[in-house]
Amino acid sequence: MPDRTITPPAATAKFIFVTGGVTSSLGKGIVSASLAKLLQARGFRVTIQKFDPYINIDPGTLNPYEHGECYVTDDGAETDLDLGHYERFLNVPTSQANNVTTGRIYDAVIRKEREGAYLGKTVQVVPHITDEIKRRMLLLGQKGEFDVVITEIGGCIGDIESLPFVEAVRQLRWELPPNDSLVIHLTLLPYLKAAGELKTKPTQHSVRDLREAGLQPDILVCRSEHPIPAEMRKKIALFCNVQVNSVIESLDADSIYSVPLLMRKEKLDERVIKKMKLVGGAPDPDLDAWKDFLGRLKNPTEEITVALVGKYVELPDAYKSILEAFVHAGAQNECKVTVRMIQSEHITAETVAQQLHGADGVLVAPGFGERGFEGKLAAIRYVRESGIPFFGICLGMQCAVVEFARNVLGLQGANSTEMDAATPYPVIGLMEDQKNITQKGGTMRLGSYVCELRKGSKAAKAYAANRIEERHRHRYEFNSEFQQQFEAAGMLASGINPDTGLVEMVELRDHPWFVAGQFHPELKSTVQAPHPLFVRFIRAAIQHRKQQVAVA
Ligand code: GLN
Repeated sequence: MPDRTITPPAATAKFIFVTGGVTSSLGKGIVSASLAKLLQARGFRVTIQKFDPYINIDPGTLNPYEHGECYVTDDGAETDLDLGHYERFLNVPTSQANNVTTGRIYDAVIRKEREGAYLGKTVQVVPHITDEIKRRMLLLGQKGEFDVVITEIGGCIGDIESLPFVEAVRQLRWELPPNDSLVIHLTLLPYLKAAGELKTKPTQHSVRDLREAGLQPDILVCRSEHPIPAEMRKKIALFCNVQVNSVIESLDADSIYSVPLLMRKEKLDERVIKKMKLVGGAPDPDLDAWKDFLGRLKNPTEEITVALVGKYVELPDAYKSILEAFVHAGAQNECKVTVRMIQSEHITAETVAQQLHGADGVLVAPGFGERGFEGKLAAIRYVRESGIPFFGICLGMQCAVVEFARNVLGLQGANSTEMDAATPYPVIGLMEDQKNITQKGGTMRLGSYVCELRKGSKAAKAYAANRIEERHRHRYEFNSEFQQQFEAAGMLASGINPDTGLVEMVELRDHPWFVAGQFHPELKSTVQAPHPLFVRFIRAAIQHRKQQVAVA
């Protein structure tokens, strides 16, 4: 056995590890975020991090069909979409440190090996890879900023890829002081219709796998379509070596935002506090604001339909943050928002009116590449000409600019150079610093940038501010050489980056609501702070609907 290269430094926070068994997609992210919410609502400072077993350095290079949306943090990390849930639930920003992949771990270890940092030792999964995993698992807990760090381990127990992460947790369990770590295992109790009962065997097996890897769970959260009878809880406790009140039922919820209340009812937070001897929190979580939000969400007085035009519509996870931002903004307006997904590839000038029929607002989504681009332009032309509220995000803004150039300014063949490198009118193009980039990963304009809003613009009114910060993830930009021409014809640059002069927002002067941003506002919408652009877009859509009804 080689010498240890790293001794984990003293931690100041307590650590909760969340693993998953039986199957993926059980909602580890939501359970983690819900527990974090409950602890936060008692006054604890909590953060959540995700350790993903895949070998990509980050999900930035993944097709959205593979892994859903790529979430971006203020400091420019391209991350797993679960970080979006963490921020939406906690209203606290995450950072580079909150998402770690196997790729990142190996990258760090291999770099160190090349530097000669291992002094001639054989570099191995244990201890070198597991030491690097542990170092990163403890990192956020050592800053004195958090009382509790929740670590979600991606994948499923039994996966080859997640073994080093489970092994790292096993080691930390005995390295950290007693009561400073806890393992919560999320499993599934499948319901067999023919037998008319829930089955515990898969849970028993997944806990056995976990124990084989050296980890004994403290708490089991059991996903189930039906309430778990008391006898069954006892059986699970007996077979899995947990206390019966540590068998937590997690029923399917009508909304992910109901899960904190369900977990509260099952006393998940109490179990955690007791087992970890967490001191200093309030005796009860203060969930008034959360319940208020749920009340508005579940009792809408208005109803609208918005069309989401994009090319990844077959997989709603590809637009996760946009869909959640609609939930927040809908609740804020006490309005039920039905989102109709429209495949932009199928939109043509001839079919657009029919496809957008009944839509009270249209959002054109972010995206990359040519597929579906012309369909997005057709949708934008239609809403621009018919006065339907429009919201463009990133590629959606670029489409709005190209559409305006072609059909209002009369610049035939105008395009983004992403779609047509030889366009005579490159109204969207690459900045100099992007031109020589060949590496795809982590090289876009990423993270938070300041934007100044034009006084009196729709954007400034929506934000009720003149200076904002929003997150970016793109290579192409509005070509400022055309700015005057656009302004003269009624498309205003309503948001400008004060450091670079780049146009970050455009809007139409003579349209009820036609606003687009080069950034991703959806990434900053939370339950506590619904995003103003979404809130205002929904309001415009409600007004549009009322007018339609009045005319009819
Ligand atoms: N493809 C565009 C760019 O790179 C837009 C990216 C996006 O919508 N996120 O600039």
